[in-house]
This record gives sequence, C-alpha cells and structure tokens, in this order.
Amino acid sequence: MNKKFPLTGISSVAIHASGHENADYSHLTPIYASSTFTFDSAQQGSDRFAGADKTRIYSRWGNPTFTVAEEIIAALESFGIQDESGNPLRVKALLHASGQAAMTTLFFSTLKAGDTVLTHFSLYGGTQELLQKVLGDTGVKTTIVDMRNLNLVEEALKNDPSIKLVHIETPANPTIQCVDIDAVTKLAKQRNLLVSVDNTFATPYLQQPFKYGVDFVFHSTTKFLNGHGTAIGGVLLGKDLEFMRTRVWKWHALLGGNSNPFDAFLLTQGIKTLEIRMDRHCSNAMKVAEYLAGHHAIAHVNYNGLPSHPDFAVTQKQMKHPGALMSYELKGGLDAGRRFIDALQMCVRAVSLGTLDTLVSHPATMSHFGLKPEERLQYGITDGLIRMSVGIENIEDLIADLDQALQKA
Ligand SMILES: *Cc1c(COP(=O)(O)O)cnc(C)c1O
Repeated sequence: MNKKFPLTGISSVAIHASGHENADYSHLTPIYASSTFTFDSAQQGSDRFAGADKTRIYSRWGNPTFTVAEEIIAALESFGIQDESGNPLRVKALLHASGQAAMTTLFFSTLKAGDTVLTHFSLYGGTQELLQKVLGDTGVKTTIVDMRNLNLVEEALKNDPSIKLVHIETPANPTIQCVDIDAVTKLAKQRNLLVSVDNTFATPYLQQPFKYGVDFVFHSTTKFLNGHGTAIGGVLLGKDLEFMRTRVWKWHALLGGNSNPFDAFLLTQGIKTLEIRMDRHCSNAMKVAEYLAGHHAIAHVNYNGLPSHPDFAVTQKQMKHPGALMSYELKGGLDAGRRFIDALQMCVRAVSLGTLDTLVSHPATMSHFGLKPEERLQYGITDGLIRMSVGIENIEDLIADLDQALQKA
C-alpha cells in the first residue's frame, strides 16, 4: 500500500489499497487485455526474467489488472493484524480463474504423494471432489473428521504423521457449521503443520483467519468479494512471502489457472462496496432467520446467528457477524419445500451465493445431487432442506415474498 497514512477503515482499504499507478491518468486501472508485455531492449528483457525489473512479462504470470485485485484482497485479509515482530502483517495474494483453480494451486504446491490433508466433513463439494478424485489419484490422502470436536482433530494429528496440511472451511455449506480456527490452528502448530482456511462465506470483513496464525487463506471471489455475480474467480493468500513468490507462484503459473483482465476488473469494482453490502446482507439475514424460526410452517432453521445453532458460540468468538447464509426445512418436508421454492416471486432460484439478490436452492436435488442419500444425511442435508443466500433487497419485500410462498407451501 503506497498511501501517505495508514487507512483505518475496511471500506477505505477496499477502495484505496492498491498502489498501482495508472498511465494516462485514468481513474480506474484499465482492463489490460494483453497476453504479453514488450521489452525496449534485449537487456530489459533479460532484466525482467532475472527479476531485476519487476515489469510484467506474460499474462499467465501476472497482469496489472490482476495486481490491483490482489493488492486489495491482501490488504483486507491482513488489515489491522500484526506479525510476530509487531509490524503490520504482509500477505501475498494470487488471483486465479476460479476458486477451484486457486484450491488446486494450494493443494499441489503444499502436498506430494504420501502426504495427507486433514479436513472437516462438511466441505464445499468441489473441494471434496478435488481432494478425493484428483489429489487421490496422485497419492495424496484425505482424512475427514468433524473438526468441531477438537478431540477428534487431536487424535487424528497424533495418529497420522503423514498429515501435512489442515484445511478448514468455516462457515460451511449448507448447515452453516463453524470450526474454531484458533483452537484447530493451535493443535496443528504444535506439530508444525500448514493450515489453510476457506474464508469464502465470511469475507475478510467478518472473519480474518490470519489473526490466528494460519498460513493460507482462500476465497472463491465469485461470491461476496465480487458480490454482483458477474465473474468466476478465486484467490489464494499466504503469509510466507518467500514461499508464495517462489513455489506457490511457480505452481500457479505452471498449472495455468490464471485469471483474466476483464474478470479481475469486475472483481475490483465489486470489492469496493464490500463493507456496505455485507452490513446489509447480514442485517437482512438476521431478520429473515428470526422470521423463519418463528413461522409455524418451518420445522427448523440452521443459522449460526441463532442461539439454537450448535456453533453459535464459535461464531460469536471469531466472526464480526454470522453472515448471510442459512438453510431451513419446512414441516411438510420435501413436497412442501418444492412448492415453496416454486411459489417465490422475488427471490431467485439458483445455486451460488453472495450476490445482491437472494438466491434459493435445494441441496438434495441440486448442489449435493451427486451424493448418496446416506452421505447427504451425514452432512445434515435432509431431502426437504432449503439453502438461502440472503441478498440486499429491502427487508419488507424479502419477508413478504417468503411469507406469500410459505402460505402456498
Ligand atoms: C464456490 C465455492 C468454492 C469454489 O469456487 P469457484 O469459484 O466456484 O471455483 C470453494 N469454496 C466455497 C466455500 C465456495 O462457496
């Protein structure tokens, strides 16, 4: 950040944190739609390859439009955090084509055949399949435990010396389970293991995993960071700058999961309103959860901001606000759930999350359709469960839409 004084608020950081100087005085950093960058001379070309000249070379390795988004996300995830020597923490971000691409770089750059990843049983479907199918074929094993039970984490770490990486996703889909980042990181660090956190649901505004000494933070930027549903993207951040600049950067470049300038531009514009969007997403979600929990047609609501949620205490400990994701079941089960979804008039039927509009999906027949019913039950996904990403519409309209649809269910 090359600003004259330290910025003290998250919106100021989201808007001003990039140090990129724009040619031609353009207000916004342009979409640098260029695959390659020119050299004035043979000497300049070799200086760039040797690292003496930091100017770009080739867009798979980096592009000025990506750098702006990377600098802003790095500033947000490290905002207000100090390193071991009491200096402001510095982290490096690498923008990717998707969350899946960023996750691939994370796993391939930290794990090799014979290593094991320890993770939580309620995990984003793509992450779970990537671990089991792709990484599994390369000889990397995955051990899954309920990480909300610290005894199970400790036992797994003690019994399996092949564990190299502990991967936490919190809050997690679709029952909004939360894992205690501080407690699990402490257990992992007793054994010098790497820890990564998928912070997609929370965003750095609600939760900053680097506070607890984790090594990597991951986002699908497709969700709240972009916020407008205009582009797929992912980012991987790390606090070991040397490791990030060498091995992780190299693996990122070789695997080829780079972003593109247009999507990076859309992401940068979206991030600027993160704080005010999240405030509205969150206050709407709390009101919707309370409304649903009190409705006679609803059997139960999974929202980590309700004291009835099993992870309410962990949420209070590590999140500024519980966020905008929830799931619920109607008393009439699957049939009533389908009638309810079909009757919605303003809320949108779609998977994904973190967009301005409220999105409603049915995990058993949509995002988790590929799992066996007994596997789904293990994740708390009953056939009637409805997942909702609460948008920033006016709360009166949101409640009115839910209300009329519940009457028709
Ligand atoms: C969407 C999502 C991903 C995958 O990201 P893509 O951008 O779809 O590749 C990973 N983790 C979580 C928690 C997600 O919601």
